Amino acid sequence: MNNVRVRFAPSPTGPLHIGGVRTALFNYLFAKKHNGTFVLRIEDTDQTRYVANAEKYIINSLNWCNIPYDEGPGKNEKFGPYRQSERKELYKKYAEELIANNKAYYAFDTAEELDVHRKDHEANKKTFIYNWHNRSKLNNSVSLSKEEVEKRIANGDKYVVRFKMYDPENNDAETIEANDIIRGHVTFKREILDDKILFKSDGMPTYHLANIVDDHLMEISHVIRGEEWLPSLPLHIALYEAFKWNAPEFAHLPLILKPVGKGKLSKRDGDKLGFPVFPLEYTNPEGEVSRGYKEDGYFSETVINFLALLGWNPGTEQELFSLEELVKTFDLARVNKSGARFDPDKTKWFNQQYMQQKPNEELAVLFAEVLKEKGISSEISFIEKVVASIKERATFVNDFWDLSSFFFEAPTEFDAKASKKNWKEGTAELMQELISIIENIEDFNSASIETIVKEWITSKEIGFGKVMQPFRLSLVGAMKGPHLFDIAEMIGKQQTIDRIKKAIDTL
Ligand code: GLU
Repeated sequence: MNNVRVRFAPSPTGPLHIGGVRTALFNYLFAKKHNGTFVLRIEDTDQTRYVANAEKYIINSLNWCNIPYDEGPGKNEKFGPYRQSERKELYKKYAEELIANNKAYYAFDTAEELDVHRKDHEANKKTFIYNWHNRSKLNNSVSLSKEEVEKRIANGDKYVVRFKMYDPENNDAETIEANDIIRGHVTFKREILDDKILFKSDGMPTYHLANIVDDHLMEISHVIRGEEWLPSLPLHIALYEAFKWNAPEFAHLPLILKPVGKGKLSKRDGDKLGFPVFPLEYTNPEGEVSRGYKEDGYFSETVINFLALLGWNPGTEQELFSLEELVKTFDLARVNKSGARFDPDKTKWFNQQYMQQKPNEELAVLFAEVLKEKGISSEISFIEKVVASIKERATFVNDFWDLSSFFFEAPTEFDAKASKKNWKEGTAELMQELISIIENIEDFNSASIETIVKEWITSKEIGFGKVMQPFRLSLVGAMKGPHLFDIAEMIGKQQTIDRIKKAIDTL
């Protein structure tokens, strides 16, 4: 495929939902797979919904996910500017071109007038649609004389520009035919569609006009976007026809569904079930904070991997994919039509998997920060060893402390149930004997401690558990943790002895 140019075109109305990140990801993968270009365009023509920190948030999110744009605000601006508000002047002439070619018209109807029509229709159990049926009876340049229209415009009357979606007198075809890479051939009946506004009375284009014009000017080859834009497809195709431009190819991605499988995944689902729906933490202008995957301890690899599988499948059993593998394997032909159920437990599983792949050095640096907050400073090489022994059981870096606190501090209490079960008559004496065995171990490493202690237990002809359980209880404070002799080696001989003494005194 030649000259693939795709775009992610969010409106900066708030934080980027993971559905938006998935759209960006699929665009990115498609671009990279075909040596194409991934463009970021900020669609900020709706000034009423504009949120100042949203664009920064979107860019930070793409960067954190490792899917940066090739072209966009502040980067390789050869088709720029990439913010529609900065392209404002450009759209008007396209609206005028359509008017000159009888494909669009001025409409002066006030909001109140339209409301009256709407209510009248409702009263008769009908829906008011502004289109070919009634446009000649409404307040616009189709029904009014040329002089009247000119007079009104000169007068400063407010107007919008509407698209002539269907005009039987103009020999318009009855249907709009389109091809969607995911959905196949789709047909829309022209006569039931409305005359959408292309240009607003505030001098700004609507999403539809700006989107089409920019996709054309930015030479976009494939439009990959969410299913919620499918109803706009006939209008977009009709606009390309009206401008006599070649349309790009389209692919509408399936919805991301709630964990129960029905309905679109929303922030409320996340709040209710305790998972984030945003890549990064977000504070809205009112100061309200929404949690993010990053801050919740997910790796960006996890987020990319689970999002890739929401709607796309590789056709094999493979579940773990690095970004490079995704670029190689991704194929729009393997994206499903039907909605993709979001599974918060599966996202945790992915994180646990990526945890195992992460180098211990990298995890140790992250854990050192957690320890620092607790006022614990420790050699990074020691932290690395701790991480190596516990990461198998961890899903998040934040799990590390619970799994390993005993490496850094002696237990302050002993689990009551475990003590009752494992600290019995004669245990104290056995532990006292264990101390003298340990005192005599010259080379205090895991393997030799294990050999010597086990030989001693065997010579006493008692069960291993009789020693090992209270030994673990002494070092850890509970019946958990990795290989006991590794713990002993890591905390050292003196600390091992001190902890056994403390257990004898306490229990
Ligand atoms: N601005 C639209 C959005 O917010 C873009 C839709 C499209 O990709 O055409 O999603």
